[in-house]
Amino acid sequence: MIRQDAHRIDPKRRATIDHKKRQFAVPIYKQQDYPHRLNLYDTPPTAEITLEQFEQWAIDRLRILAEIEACSYRNKSPGETDTQITPLLQKYLPLSSNTSSSNGAADLRLRNERQKDHYSHFILRLAFSATEDLRRRFARAETMLFRFRFQKDDSRERRAFIDSLNLDWEPVGEEERNEIAEHLANSTPGLHRVNDETWYKVDWEKVPELVERRSAYMRRGKAYVPGREQLSMIMAEFTARLERSLELTSRALPRLDEDDRLTPILNHLSKNFGSAESVYTESEGHVDGAEIRASSIDSLSQHFPLCMRSLHMNLRKNHHLKHFGRLQYTLFLKGIGLSLEECILFWRQSFKGKTDDEFNSQYKYNIRHAYGDVGGDVNRRGRGYPPYSCQKILGDSNPGIGQTHGCPYRHYSVDNLVGLLQATGVSDKEVLRGVREDVGKQRYHIACNRVFESTHKNEIKKVKEDGTWSQADLDTIVHPNTYFKRSYLLKQLAKAPSRDA
Ligand code: SF4
Repeated sequence: MIRQDAHRIDPKRRATIDHKKRQFAVPIYKQQDYPHRLNLYDTPPTAEITLEQFEQWAIDRLRILAEIEACSYRNKSPGETDTQITPLLQKYLPLSSNTSSSNGAADLRLRNERQKDHYSHFILRLAFSATEDLRRRFARAETMLFRFRFQKDDSRERRAFIDSLNLDWEPVGEEERNEIAEHLANSTPGLHRVNDETWYKVDWEKVPELVERRSAYMRRGKAYVPGREQLSMIMAEFTARLERSLELTSRALPRLDEDDRLTPILNHLSKNFGSAESVYTESEGHVDGAEIRASSIDSLSQHFPLCMRSLHMNLRKNHHLKHFGRLQYTLFLKGIGLSLEECILFWRQSFKGKTDDEFNSQYKYNIRHAYGDVGGDVNRRGRGYPPYSCQKILGDSNPGIGQTHGCPYRHYSVDNLVGLLQATGVSDKEVLRGVREDVGKQRYHIACNRVFESTHKNEIKKVKEDGTWSQADLDTIVHPNTYFKRSYLLKQLAKAPSRDA
């Protein structure tokens, strides 16, 4: 806003303004202090961080949001979600309470945790404000995260946080309360005595949850809410503020287009919401000490996810796969640790109908290319392409006639999918029903995780019981190579004697 009296600047003061100095001056920003554990993220960050921190902090938060979304898609109960999320938060985005800080080192840790939480929220806000769908999903997952933390907060600290917000909640005076006591009692479920509660008047749009449940008395556009419903009010406030901010951010986004450091990172993050592809590193697929050779692929295929399992079955049946199937499978095999020489041997032995000359001239180059042994740009030389993630496989166009690549959960008809699952030994009716439902809602990787959990339930139970793995080791699978590694390790651990045996 331009001030109306701007032309009345004192001439002496005006003379002191050095425009050159102002143009090149380094802006001095106030460092944020974080008096509370919780944050409504009203103030954007201003301090400098490195590009590595920018990316890593965003990836760490993305892991949490993707897992929260997956829990909700899988209809996990609040207790199950708690068990799933708590260790991940501890690992990637811890947020300690003030009472945990008792000395200088602890203060610094607290500050760093809160700074990371604050900055990572704003980085992802940038990444997920571009489309309405992303904004909606981001706001939903962030609200769930906020609710989770709010409920876990120390009650005194939570009180101090709420007081600091200066929310527009008007306390209801004694006279008015007495006047409408009967209405309050009738429209507020579970209420014992009207006088035992502190009541607030808030705009009804601010408490949609309560209005929807018909759990608040309404008069003249205001909802009368008991103090114990604070959670509902705070959540609504958090969501409303975030949705407004995301709208504003989306309008400012075009100005970032020319920043060639941040734009690629933000694009990469936004493409991978829900799959958290960006959190996968190639070494994650390798299993130390496992014998991964051409001759062991048949027996290892029991640990492959359905996309790779069906490629393997097709290869064994037809002694051939078309180009995209070969590429998808070769990269996966590379990801589990099959060497280039062994991979060439594997394909050579699998293509039984081909002569050596045909194999060498038509297929060998592509395998070497996938491993980065030939071709490729300088950056990829020696590494080749990374193994495909679920996001990549799910996002590719439908395979044509005779092609076998892709994800069966996405690219097969439901009946063919169920037939394939049964052929690989999945017969539990409840699981198959869940898969049909997931696929109907286009939650393909959730269906895949459902099958994984069912086919490994005994092993998962064992590693949890003997403490070998925590819930953080069992987050949602979003990469075929993670599926393989987890399956392989679980089966090995299940064979080992229990720790306390
Ligand atoms: Fe493969 Fe991912 Fe599809 Fe599972 S969800 S079958 S791992 S692409």
